[in-house]
Amino acid sequence: MPALRATALPQHRQQSAPASALFPAREDRERWDNFLTRELSSANERIAGSAVTPTLDLGDLRSELAGFDFATPRPLDELLPWAIAQMEHGVVHMTHPRYFGLFNPAPSFPAQCADRIAAAFNPQLASSRTSPAAVEIEAHVIRSVARRAGLPPEATGHFTTGGSEANYTALICALTRSNARFAAQGARAFGGAPVFYVSRESHLAWLKIAHQAGVGRSAVRLVATDGSGRMDPNALSDALAADRAQGCVPVMIAATAGTSNAGMIDPLAACAQIARGAELWYHVDAAWGGALIASKRLRGILAGIELADSVTIDAHKWFATTMGCGMFITRHASVLSSAFQVSVSFMPSNVPGVDPYVTTLQWSRRFLGLRLFLSLAAAGWAGYGDHVERSIALIALLKEKLAARGWRIANDSSLGVLCVEPPPGFGAVRSIVGRVVASGRAWVAAATFEGRETIRICVTHGETGPGDIDELVNALCQ
Ligand SMILES: *Cc1c(COP(=O)(O)O)cnc(C)c1O
Repeated sequence: MPALRATALPQHRQQSAPASALFPAREDRERWDNFLTRELSSANERIAGSAVTPTLDLGDLRSELAGFDFATPRPLDELLPWAIAQMEHGVVHMTHPRYFGLFNPAPSFPAQCADRIAAAFNPQLASSRTSPAAVEIEAHVIRSVARRAGLPPEATGHFTTGGSEANYTALICALTRSNARFAAQGARAFGGAPVFYVSRESHLAWLKIAHQAGVGRSAVRLVATDGSGRMDPNALSDALAADRAQGCVPVMIAATAGTSNAGMIDPLAACAQIARGAELWYHVDAAWGGALIASKRLRGILAGIELADSVTIDAHKWFATTMGCGMFITRHASVLSSAFQVSVSFMPSNVPGVDPYVTTLQWSRRFLGLRLFLSLAAAGWAGYGDHVERSIALIALLKEKLAARGWRIANDSSLGVLCVEPPPGFGAVRSIVGRVVASGRAWVAAATFEGRETIRICVTHGETGPGDIDELVNALCQ
């Protein structure tokens, strides 16, 4: 065996310049940390006073990027301001008070702190043995949210990357409980094609989910709505009966509590009753609307959610944590365990119902739950209650102002999202949206609701105020 060359194992901690760029000395880290703290805070302030929409020239960015061939290292002193500038000028600003967008919030400050803490310790949450404190904190938050939603004390669950992963988990649970052979044989285990039911106003990530789960996109039954954006329970019963008659195997009904388009809530109790009668898994997708559980005054709007076998709530929507942070909650811990159980020799622990890698889709796992833990602990349910009530009040104000100017309100939602149609003569919805977005004064979306083209406006920022609503009305009516 050749002897190890002395250079293979450095005797002292001195590192080459490139390596010390990865693991700088403490004083350099602190200097850059302080720079980031100051600079991010000034950028945030500048953003509130400038365009919501990107102002960068993509051609310029591409040629700058071509200069990054990663052959010659560059100093962080240059790179950090560069990266901040790209964000400041190159994205739609979720942190702008006039971003009236797609549920992406300005993140709460405690959630941002949580990200920083998680990044510094970088705990691995796959197993409880390696990160007992982190796993316990997440489990505590999930239990608290489950209880607040009215689920029984044994309800359990976990953090996910978002609502899509949580909804995917729901389908896997439904298939697993519906047929014990699904685990081994997949969709082939079923005597007929497995199918599941969502409304046609539901979030169409369901199609991708069906694809991934191996039941195919045609397994998604898009049930008709009642003309107001809510699932029609009669159409649901009819669809079930028709599928059974044709030899399909229904496995799940997934009601939406707060549609992404228009904030409509399916008849949760009626859907629960149909699911129970048909012995199907009942899921409630409350990705955005779920945050209403925080408000004592308004949580009744979600009545029926407590009947669910499983629930999706995104923390990165109305709970305003950083992205991506969703939650899957279920009353059936054992189904999660049978869906995700696996045993490998190198993992330090393997406890069903406890170790995240044997109860969830993910393996390596980031400490997401700290974001909601710190936010909830700092603001309390009451703080979040104020947060959701405030956005609903601002939408009510906007509704009043637009209605007074002859705009038609298309959605009858009790949540903080509005779909409106301009009065005759104002031009097409898409051109109004294009004009407002291009002006940088506000960000709104075009959305089709119940077959009509509408402008969709959602208050997503905890610091949006009545002045911002006025500015939006002016931008829309110009
Ligand atoms: C946003 C949303 C989803 C998808 O969640 P992601 O966090 O984007 O993966 C699913 N359902 C509803 C109702 C949503 O609003």
